[in-house]
Amino acid sequence: MTQINENYLNLQGSYLFAEVARRTAAYKAAHAGQEVISLGIGDVSRPLVPAVVDAMKQACDEMGRADTFRGYGPYEGYDFLRQAIVEHDYRARGVNIGEDEIFVSDGAKSDVANFQELFSSQARVALQDPVYPVYLDTNVMAGRSGLYKNGEFERIIYLPCTQENGFAPQLPQQTADLVYLCSPNNPTGAALTKEQLQTWVDWANEHHAVILYDSAYEAFIRDENLPHSIFEIPGAQKCAVEFRSFSKTAGFTGTRCAYCVVPKALKVKDGSGTEHAVNALWMRRQSTKFNGVPYIVQRGAEAVFSPQGLEQTRQIIDGYLDNARVMLTALRRAGFAAYGGENAPYVWLKTPRGMDSWEFFDLMLNKLQIVGTPGSGFGRAGEGYFRLTAFNTPQLTQQAAQRIAAFTF
Ligand code: PLP
Repeated sequence: MTQINENYLNLQGSYLFAEVARRTAAYKAAHAGQEVISLGIGDVSRPLVPAVVDAMKQACDEMGRADTFRGYGPYEGYDFLRQAIVEHDYRARGVNIGEDEIFVSDGAKSDVANFQELFSSQARVALQDPVYPVYLDTNVMAGRSGLYKNGEFERIIYLPCTQENGFAPQLPQQTADLVYLCSPNNPTGAALTKEQLQTWVDWANEHHAVILYDSAYEAFIRDENLPHSIFEIPGAQKCAVEFRSFSKTAGFTGTRCAYCVVPKALKVKDGSGTEHAVNALWMRRQSTKFNGVPYIVQRGAEAVFSPQGLEQTRQIIDGYLDNARVMLTALRRAGFAAYGGENAPYVWLKTPRGMDSWEFFDLMLNKLQIVGTPGSGFGRAGEGYFRLTAFNTPQLTQQAAQRIAAFTF
């Protein structure tokens, strides 16, 4: 008799975005003609930049000619893209990463979801709360979570990120083997400083833990003192893997290209104490389960690093950050405690008068016709908070800000 993988039955329903969509649709159906502004979804609205489109068209032509056609590419990505990544994202910042430490993929989502496979099913997992839900769910699927009781999984170590600690995760009191850090964080928009990251790196090296560092929003960092990569921190190559994506950096959410950096210095022991290079194991995993990113897409990603590509994508991100500033200003003037938005496309606000996240969602939808995301959907410590994104158009973001300014909360 075939039996199901019962770990999957342990997953909690992905209720958040479905419920947001359900309540929004019901409101629209009952109020035809009212304009509802969505500041809820974490997807970009601006198209691919011309430098990327041109490069992809050229690559498309190459694929249509016998002498330049390409079939399966390297599992770990073409050298031209890995070289461009190393040059622009690392060496330009004084970080020494080798091309053979870069693995190109179809998304940071797949990478952060898959990477846990390399570690023991007994590994203890620590993660920020609130945070991108994929880290938790994939570890539940892998059987590392224990049972769900009183709103938490028994074996997961939650690191609350709240107003009280400046939305920065504190070191765990218990033993943790795998730590997911997301900076700038989705949903709080908080970015870790060099000092905070150094504390984590030192702790991980001391405790032989591995940090899985998601910097999908690194391109939004504007504060020059903040690190863009964990590898700017001494000692990180011995304890960390980094995940990056072209999704939010260059509008690739539908085009799909990302990469992860697995330093050769990162070694993890087996049960008998023998060390293994994580880089070699990840290569083994990718070559078995993944057949690479399309050539056309990788040429598009390479063009993000051309002088035109860098300039054009920077302008788009500046536009999103302007939207975030508009929201932050309106919210603060309206008396809200509002955070994030300066080095991230997310604004995170404390709900007024002790309202819970869903009550505030309903108020925003019913009274202001603005859709955001209830903070409680990102973890227990997100209760009483609300996320607004900077990805809508400047016009609609302005309109949303005016509605906030005109309302008494
Ligand atoms: N990591 C974080 C923190 C995210 O918020 C997202 C997408 O919203 C991803 C990863 C997924 O990125 P990708 O589009 O590269 O799969």
